[in-house]
Amino acid sequence: MQKSILKKTKIVCTIGPSSESVEIIEGLIDAGMNVARMNLSHGNQSDHKKIISNLREAAKNRKIYLPILADLPGPKYRVGEIENGIMEVTENQKIIFECDNEKLESKLLNIWPSGLNDDVEKGAILMIDDGAVELEVTGKNQTQLETKVKLSGKISSNKAVVARGYPSMLDYFTEETESALNFVITNDIDYIGLSYVRNAEDIKRVKEKLGDKKLRIISKIELQKALDNLEEIIDNSDVVMVARGDLGVHLPISEVPSAQKYIINLSNKKGKEVITATQMLESMTENPQPTRAESTDVHNAVLDGTDAIMLSGETSVGNYPIRAVEFMREISDIAEKNINNNYIRNLKLENINSSDSNHVDELIAHGAASIAEQLESKLIVAFTESGSTAARVASYRPSQSVIALSPDLSAEINLGLRWGVNTINVSNFDQIEEMFEYANDIVKELNLASIGDTIVVVAGLPIGVKGNTNLIRVINIS
Ligand code: PEP
Repeated sequence: MQKSILKKTKIVCTIGPSSESVEIIEGLIDAGMNVARMNLSHGNQSDHKKIISNLREAAKNRKIYLPILADLPGPKYRVGEIENGIMEVTENQKIIFECDNEKLESKLLNIWPSGLNDDVEKGAILMIDDGAVELEVTGKNQTQLETKVKLSGKISSNKAVVARGYPSMLDYFTEETESALNFVITNDIDYIGLSYVRNAEDIKRVKEKLGDKKLRIISKIELQKALDNLEEIIDNSDVVMVARGDLGVHLPISEVPSAQKYIINLSNKKGKEVITATQMLESMTENPQPTRAESTDVHNAVLDGTDAIMLSGETSVGNYPIRAVEFMREISDIAEKNINNNYIRNLKLENINSSDSNHVDELIAHGAASIAEQLESKLIVAFTESGSTAARVASYRPSQSVIALSPDLSAEINLGLRWGVNTINVSNFDQIEEMFEYANDIVKELNLASIGDTIVVVAGLPIGVKGNTNLIRVINIS
């Protein structure tokens, strides 16, 4: 327990054919996975149900709560079914796409949902499969696009089609997205990932459809439009994801690093969690070791201030899913020692000074982080109901780990992606002295602090009232 409880950077693993068995999932948990992700754009609903059941079984075997994230497909165009699933195209080859789903002609390839021919103009470049194949639009009529291959390669059924510089006019709820959303609502899922979010309106519409089903909202930043509207997207989300795969299709690849830093910076400033995703250890899909550049990328993402780092193909279809998590953990452990917490703390403070300076919860959280820093305390212990107190303390990036003690399962879910926090489920307390004693004893029991060390405790009085953090106590471990 001591080994994993002091880890700060959270790791998200995408589950797929390479990792869906209970045994491999247990291996991923042991290696350091904090959140499991399913991408609902791939596989069918019976595969997804099986994965959820295996994840729950593995987590139960390991005596942890493992939050599950499911990503909605969002409003994206795709190539339709291709005979034999795949087709090789060569430079200058002419291809006509039918873009009206009502008018499918067997000889033509189609793009679905309907509408791409309305979004683009002659001269637009279509990128298929994250840019693996590029085609130029040479002509169009009411329902079809005439194109010429610019970059040859293979096109397979269902691959995404993107026209860089031509935002899709699709409604957020395509048929595919609607069906995935119904799956999320009716299954045991904790976080919902919104692909291709464009603005706050898209998020509000998903929240409306979710109704009473309270899920954490993760907005994936993958479009120029999302970057343009980043502030309102962060304000309306619980978490954002730097979705570098699609970002590198919608923006020139050379602009992805600045976009990553901008998204992480603004999220840190607003105290919201942020995940850095895609191609972090890409070569490990095939190889047992990452490249030096990949190792540096993971380290740098932690220094940038990311809360969590994500594996996609490495764990879903790769040959070495468990080793990929082990490497990620090893690299992030070292990066955590080099991070400039002060810089991130000051970013958040700047934001608070200009908006929320009278907020007691915020002042207590900042106070706890500063006192722990000043006293070189071993740990910060936060008694919390929903997890918000612990999240607030951690958003000031203290050097110390934050241990969240909560009687409520929602705290484990709400803190699953938060940098620097680990949650322990406890029963309810009646007396404040009982809480201090518990904090003193649990940190000793877990070998997290020894007699003579100090820990900083944050709590709220009266006990059990949500959103009422008003107390800091420094305990000398006895
Ligand atoms: C991405 O584009 O980086 C991403 C995480 O989304 P997806 O898995 O849908 O490609």
